[in-house]
Amino acid sequence: MTSPTPKPNILNISPYVGGDSKISGLKQIIKLSSNEGALGPSPKAMEAFNKEAKNLHRYPESSAAKLREAIAETYGLDPDRIVCGSGSDELIDLLARAYSGPGDEVIHTEHGFLMYSIAAKGAGAKPISVPEKNLRGDVDSLIKRAGKDTKILYLANPNNPTGTYLADTDIRRLRDGLPDHVLLVIDSAYAEYVTRNDYKDGKQLVEDFNNVVMTRTFSKIFALGGIRLGWAYCPREVADVLNRLRGPFNVSSPAMAAGIAAIRDIAFTDEVRTHTEKWYKWTKENLIELGLEVPSQVGNFLLVRFPDDPDQNAEATNEFFRTRGIIVRRMTEYSLPECLRITIGKQDEMQKLLITLKEFRKR
Ligand code: PMP
Repeated sequence: MTSPTPKPNILNISPYVGGDSKISGLKQIIKLSSNEGALGPSPKAMEAFNKEAKNLHRYPESSAAKLREAIAETYGLDPDRIVCGSGSDELIDLLARAYSGPGDEVIHTEHGFLMYSIAAKGAGAKPISVPEKNLRGDVDSLIKRAGKDTKILYLANPNNPTGTYLADTDIRRLRDGLPDHVLLVIDSAYAEYVTRNDYKDGKQLVEDFNNVVMTRTFSKIFALGGIRLGWAYCPREVADVLNRLRGPFNVSSPAMAAGIAAIRDIAFTDEVRTHTEKWYKWTKENLIELGLEVPSQVGNFLLVRFPDDPDQNAEATNEFFRTRGIIVRRMTEYSLPECLRITIGKQDEMQKLLITLKEFRKR
């Protein structure tokens, strides 16, 4: 008997596995595996979410107009060019479905966020991984690789999991070097954490060119990963395409309410940024003092390279952390098996992580 078969590329997708959140037998864990904001969501966002409970029987407003207004006000954008989605994952996927298909290529960097190749395969296109230089996207190689079959280039800036970034001048050089038919998607999921002078989130490029999209998320500094909320800032034509393709009610009313409150709670966002900067620096310095390599530059997570020695490597360290209830992220699926990625959490969590690591390395 024959059975329904999916499109050819679908069975080549390795399903995305998120950061672990449990260790069997342990009640209390420290979860530093998914780059979730260290201090949780703004209390105002939680209150707004709860208030929506009485309206759960109503469909949401389908264009997310109030949320787009709040985003536009906060970041100085045109609300008509914002499209909201169920996490930026949805927008990454919709872009792949809208702009690529069988016979097309979708470029991402060697250690780029895994959803790019998943989205490309889902659309029937071929993901192309372009080698990085010193764990950073390499503008020259990316330009060289983009050809007539290339439809999209996804670039996370800063990148997850490396925590490295490209300066605005490099991103502009990349855009200028790409053929005009290639859509450059700048994934600025961690932009709110970056305070470097040479960094820009990409919104100006979206305003200057009709082949650049910027994606953003509420899952990181706003710590609202559980409600699934993201947005894209697009050229008018791209916004129109996404609005045709997306589900009419792809963002729920509680998500919109929480998102609006979160983005307007600037004092809380500043507090999270300040906390993260402090503990990022503290953790990075201490890890380096222990002799570990930490190539990350910005964001709310650190990529840490461990020695080759089987007693001290990433796998052994990870196992030891788990015995103490600490969950970080293994990097095997990102072709960085010698590394672990550690999210910056609360003060006591980072202190416990360091004490545990020192204990492990002294054995
Ligand atoms: N882009 C990058 C670079 C990310 O790290 C993540 C989350 N891990 C996402 C996008 C997806 O975020 P969201 O929760 O909005 O789907």
